[in-house]
Amino acid sequence: MTKVLIAEDNADSREILSFELEAEGYDVCAVGDGLSAIEAAASFRPDVIVMDISLPTVDGLEATKRIKAQPGFAKVPVLALTAHAMTEDEARFRAAGCDCYLAKPASPEAVLNVVRRLLATPGASPAP
Ligand code: MN
Repeated sequence: MTKVLIAEDNADSREILSFELEAEGYDVCAVGDGLSAIEAAASFRPDVIVMDISLPTVDGLEATKRIKAQPGFAKVPVLALTAHAMTEDEARFRAAGCDCYLAKPASPEAVLNVVRRLLATPGASPAP
């Protein structure tokens, strides 16, 4: 079963996203802050990560950086969700290891489409 880690501090958004992804057959782990995302990545071993950028404890960019630095995670794709997607931010997202981003509010369908695309991309291999 394909595993998706969701890090989103807004409880409503987190639940809606989890529900939609589970309905599509994904195994979902959802957390509400950056440190929990780092811990969950290590134990849950997701195939793809949906990462809100504005998160408590450590933000989504820092969490992505730390996750991607862990063995086996370099190629796990990360979709960043951001409320402030300016063109100059894209370089920061990429530098942190995010593979792509969606501006918020992003519909669950939009997130699902990107997740599917990321999983279909050659080189985006699951964690061992
Ligand atoms: Mn947030």
